Amino acid sequence: MSENLDPGYTGEGMYRENIIDHYKNPHNKGSIEDADAQFTENNATCGDVITVQLKVKDGIVKDIKFQGRGCAISQAAMSMLTGEIKGKSLEKAKSVKRGDIVGMFGIEIGPVRTKCATLGMVAVKNAIKEFELKKVSVKEGVK
Ligand code: ZN
Repeated sequence: MSENLDPGYTGEGMYRENIIDHYKNPHNKGSIEDADAQFTENNATCGDVITVQLKVKDGIVKDIKFQGRGCAISQAAMSMLTGEIKGKSLEKAKSVKRGDIVGMFGIEIGPVRTKCATLGMVAVKNAIKEFELKKVSVKEGVK
């Protein structure tokens, strides 16, 4: 059962190092001044917070930036995810699953850490959801 492996306790040093590297030097950290979408997601169990901002054009994620604090897993996962999503379609960004995050990590994430690892993913999906809702209401002339 690889499900029980936790990056904090496995001997898979290479992957663990990669996670710590992303945590220490996060990719796409910062803010977008004229963002089209923004969402903040909290993980109360661990105290992780992630705010994601998106710049969208023609259904493509032109830019993605995040700010956050919390454990290494949550911040590293978001750093990796932003690299994965940038330049891709909204459809692609919406289709990211827990398994994709695990794939990026290269090691299985224990159940306790799953919320940490998927926090950024949930924030991205909610940001896109709000963006699409906003777009519909603009089209229909609703303020
Ligand atoms: Zn966490």
